[in-house]
Amino acid sequence: MKKSKLLADTTYDGEVERLSGLPKFPMLPAAQKELRNALRRISESDADFIHRLISDVVDTHSICPTPAELIQIAGAKRHRKQTSVGRPDCPYCEGSGFVISYRTVAPEGFAPYETSCASVCTCRGGR
Ligand SMILES: [Zn+2]
Repeated sequence: MKKSKLLADTTYDGEVERLSGLPKFPMLPAAQKELRNALRRISESDADFIHRLISDVVDTHSICPTPAELIQIAGAKRHRKQTSVGRPDCPYCEGSGFVISYRTVAPEGFAPYETSCASVCTCRGGR
């Protein structure tokens, strides 16, 4: 079931708290509130996205991002999500939506050679 109601402040606070292990995490409540506001601007209803975003940040950042950086990181993450069109757990394309196959072509007048081609993966309707 998909919840579409707005997330509670406590949900954001929990995620902001996960950043507190990073150096440069702001100790001032006002600054923490700005981080929370940034998360709310990023998504008002998608707790999963916020959670994955913070997981990414904790895994890949050595210092706590500013609210502006958080919004940037979220934008890049959304973009990646949109460009990945295959099923993320697909064993053939691993989420890229394309599979590379090799075949031998023999154009007239040339020696046969092997070439690679990308085709649409079955997980997004190709065959
Ligand atoms: Zn696939």
